[in-house]
Amino acid sequence: MLAAMHQYIDGERRAGTTGETFEVLDPSTDEVLETVALAGPADVDAAVASAQAAYAQWSRATPVERAAVLTKAAALLDERAEDLARLESRQAGKPIRLAREFDVPGTVDNTAFFGAAARRLDGMASAEYSGDHTSSIRREPLGVIGSIAPWNYPLQMAAWKVLPAIAAGNTIVLKPAEITPLTSLLFAEAFTEAGAPPGTVNIVTGTGPVAGQHLVGHPDVAMTSFTGSTAVGRRVMATAAHTGKRVHLELGGKAPFVVFDDADLEAAVHGAVAGSLINTGQDCTAATRAIVHRSVLDEFVRGVADLFAVVRMGPTSDPATDLGPLSSRAHLAKVAGMVERARGYAKVVTGGAAPTGDLARGSYYEPTLVTDVPLGSELWTDEVFGPVLVVVPFDDDDEAIRLANDTEFGLAASAWTRDTYRAGRATREIQAGCVWVNDHIPIISEMPHGGYKHSGFGKDMSAYSFDEYTQVKHVMHDLTGEARKPWHRTIFTLPG
Ligand code: NAD
Repeated sequence: MLAAMHQYIDGERRAGTTGETFEVLDPSTDEVLETVALAGPADVDAAVASAQAAYAQWSRATPVERAAVLTKAAALLDERAEDLARLESRQAGKPIRLAREFDVPGTVDNTAFFGAAARRLDGMASAEYSGDHTSSIRREPLGVIGSIAPWNYPLQMAAWKVLPAIAAGNTIVLKPAEITPLTSLLFAEAFTEAGAPPGTVNIVTGTGPVAGQHLVGHPDVAMTSFTGSTAVGRRVMATAAHTGKRVHLELGGKAPFVVFDDADLEAAVHGAVAGSLINTGQDCTAATRAIVHRSVLDEFVRGVADLFAVVRMGPTSDPATDLGPLSSRAHLAKVAGMVERARGYAKVVTGGAAPTGDLARGSYYEPTLVTDVPLGSELWTDEVFGPVLVVVPFDDDDEAIRLANDTEFGLAASAWTRDTYRAGRATREIQAGCVWVNDHIPIISEMPHGGYKHSGFGKDMSAYSFDEYTQVKHVMHDLTGEARKPWHRTIFTLPG
């Protein structure tokens, strides 16, 4: 058992006020990892009050001071990288290699990036636009941000929410997913240790309908940023509407993976395996719909099936393990149910079952490849969020683009081709927040991540995220010094 974990409010670990607790499980074995407090409305109120108190100081810190805190926090997180990786691997069921090489270094780099970005908030140049005034722009924080995060990348999602918010001078209350709260607590502590006022980053560990809903509806919270499913995102938006607050939504995905007939097929096959199995397919940008030119379809299906067969499922602590479990028994049942129903209308080429033996103690599910999937069927339209790739053929480029856009989602997509004009058309016409060419998945701190269509709006990462977490103020100074300004005559004229 790890050291007792609680909520993180006002710069300290706190027990919850409800007396209720929640068991965090390791989904690779279903062993209890930790028991955490379940926050109630009073805990959320305390966290918001603490964030409000910290705001007075943190929002007035200079960019240099904020940058110093974030830069130091990045160094602290880097020192603790191995502890963070192990904890993330256990609570989320990630193969340790993924946690060590992706989740944790990505978080450290994001923290360092926002340390630098805190010193560079852009706006229009000050100028005499009216002739009689000097106009300038102030980019100001909003206040207390209330954020809700999902369970698939608990540490990275906490980072994506917290970093742009505090780099811009806001303070924050984050509610991680109830099943994966542990690394967010360690993440938050690094900022207090690095010198942020207590209350700058707070974590409440509760359920969505209770703590999450209360946070979103809180009148002292200026903005809600949410990452999670499209269904819950819509509910969050409706709740936020009662207090008219700004909302930033990062929602689901159903990424197309378009393979043209001139593609490097070996690259496309490897890309499809990596892109669909990353994080056991529990990635909002994962490749889920392979749209493949009919002339290379059989070769593509054979290549992916062959690689799926050699992917190693195993204990998450083993560096040789490629594929970990799904996040929970409930999620395993959802994924397995969708594939079972698909047997009635499509062809399961490989996978489609949970492994037996030792791995049956956890929520493992085999890499699954499905062909002959009708358009409009559940597996074509709905997010599976598991290691499941569907393949459909196309005959010409128009059809490929049409199929790629045949989804309510628009988070990410990729096009595989050696033809620069085809690539150019795909990047222009596919409706998604990110389109890769001849790759699928890489993200970088300098570039934005966010959805089109029902995948949400607003951007995480990069300087673009400051548009979400700041408000723009126009400041206008009169230059004439006259009591009777020239423009007054538009409104009234004095006699004589
Ligand atoms: P989810 O929507 O079930 O839960 C997300 C969070 O919302 C959790 O913290 C949950 O407790 C909270 N929540 C639930 N009900 C709530 C309510 N009524 N009010 C406030 N909060 C509430 O999503 P999940 O199952 O944790 O995560 C998987 C989903 O997240 C997938 O759809 C995936 O595509 C999406 N996702 C999107 C991105 C992105 O950047 N677009 C990134 C990661 C995950």
